[in-house]
This record gives sequence, C-alpha cells and structure tokens, in this order.
Amino acid sequence: MSKILKITGLGKTYSSGQKELTVLQDISFEVEKGQSFSIVGPSGSGKTTLLGLCAGLDDPNTGSVELCGQDLSLLDQDQKAQLRNKEVGFIFQNFQLLPTLTALENVSVPLELQGDQSATQKSITLLEKVGLGERADHYPTQLSGGEQQRVALARAFANAPSILFADEPTGNLDEETGEKVIQLLFELNKEAGTTLVIISHDLELARRTQQILRLKGGQILTNERTKVQ
Ligand code: ADP
Repeated sequence: MSKILKITGLGKTYSSGQKELTVLQDISFEVEKGQSFSIVGPSGSGKTTLLGLCAGLDDPNTGSVELCGQDLSLLDQDQKAQLRNKEVGFIFQNFQLLPTLTALENVSVPLELQGDQSATQKSITLLEKVGLGERADHYPTQLSGGEQQRVALARAFANAPSILFADEPTGNLDEETGEKVIQLLFELNKEAGTTLVIISHDLELARRTQQILRLKGGQILTNERTKVQ
C-alpha cells in the first residue's frame, strides 16, 4: 500500500510573549492511499493544529510532513498552495461557504479559477450527487445546515482531491442530518478512492473509519486499525 501522508517526529510549540506552549510532541503516523482514517481526542488535544500541519497550512517546529510524496519543508508557500489546490479537499465544521455566491457558484468558482472549462457542468453533476440539484441557485442563507454541508462536500470533491480532511464535519448538525453527511462522505471515499482523514471528538464516528489515531495532550495515545477494512 502506498502512503499518501507520512508524519515523522512532528512537534509544534506556540509562543506568545515569554510563554511557550507545546501542543504537539513526537507525532509519527502514516495514512495509506484510499484509506479512511480518523484523528480523535478531547478538545484542546491538538487535532486542528495537526490537521493544519498535515496540509501545510502551518509549519512544525520539529519533524516532517510528506503529503502526496512531497516533503512539505522543501516547498515554498506557493508550491504548497498549488499542491493543496491539486490534491487536497477540506470540509469544516462551519461549512465556510461564500455567502454572496449561490450553491452552484460555491462549487464552480474555485474550478473556474483553475481554468476548468467544464466547471459548471461538473458542479451541477456534483450537486445532483449530493442531492441538491434543485437547490443550485440558492444562496447559503437559504439552505439548512445539512444542505450547506452537502454543498461544501460537493465543493471539496470538485477537483477530485487525492485526500480530504474533514474537521468535525458534523459538529454543527443534528444527529440525523450529520448521519446523511457522513454516509455521503464514506460513499465518495469509496467511489472516488479519495483518502479520508476525519478529525473528531466523536469516537463512534471514528470507529466507522479503518484506522483511529487517538491524541491526548498533544501526544499519541493509540494508533489502531478498526474492524472496518
Ligand atoms: P483541538 O482541535 O484538539 O481542540 P487545537 O489544535 O485547536 O486542539 O489546540 C491545541 C492547543 O493549542 C490548545 O491548548 C489551544 O489553545 C492551543 N492553540 C491552538 N492554536 C493556537 C495559536 N495559534 N496560538 C497559541 N495557542 C494555540
């Protein structure tokens, strides 16, 4: 199995004034291509910081991150952004749709910016896939939380990413709506072979992925495969 993400000896310390806060220490793990993987831990355990480091949004103090075969420490900011545009998708707890754009535009504009000639058609197909074909012309405020998250999902999958990071994807949704989003996320993971990395405090959700990395106080507690394979 080839590795899509390889984290070695990662450490992160934030400093404000004279104070230093070590939020991640000696983190090493690997994610296989196509795998569903979760990072769980209580609030403040370093999950979001780790996600930022994995995606090259922030730099570690120690250790290295290899994403899609590239050592991020050897890339400048532009190269990292290019790698993200090409290979990485994101889903956040608060959806992060652009409020002045319709559902369709939220999905298609990033594609158009990358020069994709078939951006609109691709986006319509994706919105239909997430069950929102009829809502393409709606603005985010005209959509429910679950619908907004499904638009975010369509957007995240629009450039066929190799790896998708989902940070508490159901955090703002009720149980039933969250379940629909999760099912869709796993469906897209299986169909498109997109590697899925879910960050969550929800162990039940994590148990539905193939591997669980548990963090506590910025350190790895366990890293185990589940029965799901
Ligand atoms: P989690 O996602 O598990 O809730 P975070 O990665 O958000 O954890 O935070 C881990 C720790 O790092 C927390 O104590 C948080 O207050 C601290 N932290 C996060 N971001 C910053 C920052 N930019 N500056 C200083 N401390 C931070």
